[in-house]
Amino acid sequence: MRECVGRFAPTPSGRMHLGNVFAALIAWLSVRSQGGKMVLRMEDLDTQRTSAEFAETLRRDLTWLGLDWDEETPPQSQRTQVYDRYFDLLAQKGLLYPCYCTRSQLHSVNAPHLSDGTYVYAGTCRGLTPEQRKEKGDKFSWRVQVPERVICLTDMAQGDFSQDLAKQCGDFVVRRADGVYVYQLAVTVDDGEAGVTEVVRGVDLLASAPRQMYLQELFGFQAPAYGHVPLLVAPDGRRLSKRDKDMDLGQLQKQMRPERLLGILACTAGLMDRVEDISARELIPHFRWDGLGKDSICLRL
Ligand code: GLU
Repeated sequence: MRECVGRFAPTPSGRMHLGNVFAALIAWLSVRSQGGKMVLRMEDLDTQRTSAEFAETLRRDLTWLGLDWDEETPPQSQRTQVYDRYFDLLAQKGLLYPCYCTRSQLHSVNAPHLSDGTYVYAGTCRGLTPEQRKEKGDKFSWRVQVPERVICLTDMAQGDFSQDLAKQCGDFVVRRADGVYVYQLAVTVDDGEAGVTEVVRGVDLLASAPRQMYLQELFGFQAPAYGHVPLLVAPDGRRLSKRDKDMDLGQLQKQMRPERLLGILACTAGLMDRVEDISARELIPHFRWDGLGKDSICLRL
């Protein structure tokens, strides 16, 4: 059996809000209850929105919560050369092609969309001839071709999930026109190289797991187990976001001690039947996936 390795992969673009705290808590509990190792990685590909100060605040916030980690791997902004190698591998396999479509073309009403509004790339630039490519100029992103195949996974929180990559996603971008690698490639490489065996994060990322599983296969990484934690919503049904100042950790730290916040979240996760103050470490023996459910959870503070 492989050693259990989990990860925190925050984007240092602001203060953690309660949804992030909840997902981080579940990720940590799952790993620690198996005696596994936790890795921290800053996902700062978007250098405009992220900063070293936010990264430091995130580390402090995790520490305040009692969620520790064993190792911090280099931030994504420093790994371009590593990503280059995996990008070359895709090129060698003949799976990459330049895409000249503009944002407005991709999102136009005539472009194919799924019922939830996500656009599906129609393969517009896949078959361009070298001459046509030359005419289109030098501003292009790189897309990887996807096979006509359904990718399935059994999620620890959401149960069975499948996605037909060609029909529900289409060939997807791995490197943007400005040369920056996209999340899907970076996360696959980073989790793969760190030997991550379980990925626990918010349910909003469930639909990206099949793209990552496809890349894992191409790069030769073993797929991790997935657990996509339900969203926390405010009592009025609003999704919590980084803009929700009342739900960010900066505000919450002024109102309560970590043990109280963890007690509330543990109750929310179905790990305790009433709210009582408890530390992260004391929660480990209470951890189980089945109390969590799949649906959004309304948080009452
Ligand atoms: N960096 C992403 C976020 O903060 C999480 C990515 C992941 O867990 O795969 O939303």
